[in-house]
Amino acid sequence: MNILIAEDTPSVRLLLAKVVSKAGHVPYLAENGYQVLEFMQCTTIDMVLMDISMPKMGGLETTRQIREEYDSWLPIIFITASTDDNEYAEALMIGGDGILVKPIKPALVRAQVKAMERIVQSQQELNRINAKLEAMSKQDVLTGVANRNGLYEAVQKELKRSRRRNSPLCLMMIDVDYFKQYNDTYGHLGGDECLRLVAQTIKRQLRRPVDLVARFGGEEFVILLPDTRLTGGRQIGESLLEAIREAKIPHEGSPVAEILTVSAGLAANEYAINDYQLNDLLDQADAALYKAKSEGRNRLVSMADMSNSKSPTKQVGV
Ligand code: GH3
Ligand code: MG
Ligand code: MG
Ligand code: MG
Repeated sequence: MNILIAEDTPSVRLLLAKVVSKAGHVPYLAENGYQVLEFMQCTTIDMVLMDISMPKMGGLETTRQIREEYDSWLPIIFITASTDDNEYAEALMIGGDGILVKPIKPALVRAQVKAMERIVQSQQELNRINAKLEAMSKQDVLTGVANRNGLYEAVQKELKRSRRRNSPLCLMMIDVDYFKQYNDTYGHLGGDECLRLVAQTIKRQLRRPVDLVARFGGEEFVILLPDTRLTGGRQIGESLLEAIREAKIPHEGSPVAEILTVSAGLAANEYAINDYQLNDLLDQADAALYKAKSEGRNRLVSMADMSNSKSPTKQVGV
């Protein structure tokens, strides 16, 4: 651990540094509260041993400021020459986690640091688990791509960015054709494997790190293309449909072809960037997808192709 030692008396500072490094930690040295705050800004500090009485800014005020500024907790152990119980109580109330009384006894410092290290480690473990759970909550278990949660979060972020930079955002909804028949022919597990393959094929077609593919549900996928107009989205969509045909996944039960095909609906906010919400994009992509299905499947329809929107404008509530 990186342990910051804040102590204005050089001999005590040196003694503490020795104990800390002998215990296998890296000591950082400060002489007053201002230096502590500076260290906190530019170095990862895991624990502070803080003298209460220091010139310029003492340990109590420094601790108050650390607790106010930082959301994440780090242990602060006070060092004091005082024998006043009230001062100890005040120090703990302000945000300290332990008190070492001078003269310094190395064995006690070691034990105190060790005790705090146990708490730090279990907290780090908890943070790791939380981060993992957070990532899992946005990932589709079957295909490994984003799930609806992950998609919604990304769309909201990208819509904000789109408004800020006045750049278009494209959303495409993709639905596997006659997937019910696929399951009927190859079984549910065969269907699962097919969905994994479709997800991976879509993913491979997306070239930029900002592009996102998500499983929207069942056999439906959504792709999000930031900074992309309908014309660009159409190109990507067409090559995506081709890639899925090229994968030549047999689909004997399909009335459209002997191989698996998909249909896609494309929408973008390029005509009214500031007005568009997530639901507008989803509704318009869904309407275009519906048209692609009704016109025979195995094709892409853009909102620009919709009969009532030769030069599409946003309709409120659509
Ligand atoms: P269309 O061309 O009109 O889209 O027809 P479709 O058969 O693909 O559409 P429909 O909505 O009738 O059927 C979707 C099927 O997808 C039904 C459902 O059992 C299947 N499905 C949904 N989720 C999964 C899944 O996780 N695994 C498998 N194997 N099948 C799934
Ligand atoms: Mg002092
Ligand atoms: Mg469907
Ligand atoms: Mg389908």
